[in-house]
Amino acid sequence: MEFHIVLLPGDGIGPEIVGQAQKTLEAVARKYGHVFDFEPLLMGGCSIDKYGVPLTDEVLEKAKGSDAVLLGAVGGKVGQSAWYKLPPEKRPEAGLLAIRKGMGLFANIRPAYLFPQLKHRCPLKEEVIKDGFDLVIVRELTGGLYFGKHETTVENGLRTAHDTLIYNEEEIRRIAVRAFDMAMKRRKKVSSVDKANVLASSRLWRQVVEEVAKDYPEVQLEHVLVDNAAMQLVRDPGQFDVILTENSFGDILSDEASEVTGSIGMLSSASLGSGKCGLYEPSHGSAPDIAGQDIANPLATILSAAMLLRYSLDLDKEADDVESAVRAVLAAGYRTPDIMSEGCQKVGCSQMGDLVVKTLLETQ
Ligand code: NAD
Repeated sequence: MEFHIVLLPGDGIGPEIVGQAQKTLEAVARKYGHVFDFEPLLMGGCSIDKYGVPLTDEVLEKAKGSDAVLLGAVGGKVGQSAWYKLPPEKRPEAGLLAIRKGMGLFANIRPAYLFPQLKHRCPLKEEVIKDGFDLVIVRELTGGLYFGKHETTVENGLRTAHDTLIYNEEEIRRIAVRAFDMAMKRRKKVSSVDKANVLASSRLWRQVVEEVAKDYPEVQLEHVLVDNAAMQLVRDPGQFDVILTENSFGDILSDEASEVTGSIGMLSSASLGSGKCGLYEPSHGSAPDIAGQDIANPLATILSAAMLLRYSLDLDKEADDVESAVRAVLAAGYRTPDIMSEGCQKVGCSQMGDLVVKTLLETQ
């Protein structure tokens, strides 16, 4: 099959890690007889340097017209790079908000999986980790607190600030459907996280999630208050399969979940809309402190490419194959410096990419 994939390597380690993911996708194409037509474009600081803006209309249109977009990361050393002398809406990170909004991506999917070989990096105790955990956070991305009205006024002589948290039933329904669909392909459990004891938006959230659940009788639904969810994630992460939540709760919980895995360089993510095209990127930033040294861990980006195969191109077998190759390379003891441990062999970014490609091509 033939697919058009837009690459947005971005800044810092972005070009190094996206290079390894592209190599991996090229190996998938060779192995399975697909044609992937890659179009590298600029976004973030590199786009500011060339065009004066972090995302041009042309790049956005090309991204929207593609089958999928693979992003590295954007941004430089905050406070040091000249990009941060610009107003916030012109900085590299503004490109991220603009592309998510422009592509209508309302669902952010962030898996948090504990690789058995990296168990020692998990900050939790053995008795809490038990057999490990494998959960995915489905976060609403374009509504709620971050997109409501924000204003600061003076009331009764006091500076007073208001932020509004708005959701309509349609926004809740479409993200809930995404979460239940995902649960059907996994262990069939959805934990919907809200603050229904306090917030009206959460009470509507609960009602609509229950309506959607009626279409998925095989999926077990539970409601968890957000404060309890934050606690349960460190007390017993293995209890979760799919966590469904609104924008700001999801922002915080997904960072907590990634911290619990202990390896930021391993975590992939996807942002999806109503169509097939999605935006795939590692959960970490552009790591300017290690850029250009060929020591960054490319596995989060390679695993994001596996998500791209699964969710945008419907190539499940190929996605499984990439994930297995990553597990096999770790099992063989290869590590980039960020996940290095005693007895393992240290490799660089491009060497890690080569190992994944070799394993992928060698296995049936
Ligand atoms: P970061 O994730 O870039 O780095 C945090 C730490 O983790 C650093 O020590 C870095 O070296 C390390 N690290 C990150 N990814 C790694 C990898 N693949 N391999 C090995 N080590 C890795 O976060 P930060 O330092 O807070 O931000 C740096 C820049 O990235 C900033 O400009 C920030 O705005 C931007 N940022 C971009 C995105 C994005 O593009 N989606 C997300 C977060 C931060």
